[in-house]
Amino acid sequence: MEEDKKPSVKEMAFNLTESIKNSLSNFAKTGVLLADSTLVEYRIDQCVGCPHFQAENSRCLKCGCYMNMKTRLVASKCPVGKW
Ligand code: SF4
Repeated sequence: MEEDKKPSVKEMAFNLTESIKNSLSNFAKTGVLLADSTLVEYRIDQCVGCPHFQAENSRCLKCGCYMNMKTRLVASKCPVGKW
């Protein structure tokens, strides 16, 4: 099986910026920033079973984001469509 290569710093900065932009845009429209605990748990479960998940630091090797943070922002999206 091919091993994931972490995204470059530039790609991670872009992904983080997009995630923050989406979250703030969603917050402006809905007034909701954070996901409820049921949604966070669902997302974490998907990540834990995913081959792109790096468990030791709770990081996604597709987007480079830390899942403890990203799963809590309601407008976040999995880069491969799992949530
Ligand atoms: S965000 Fe998506 S691709 Fe990344 S670890 Fe979670 S389920 Fe896998």
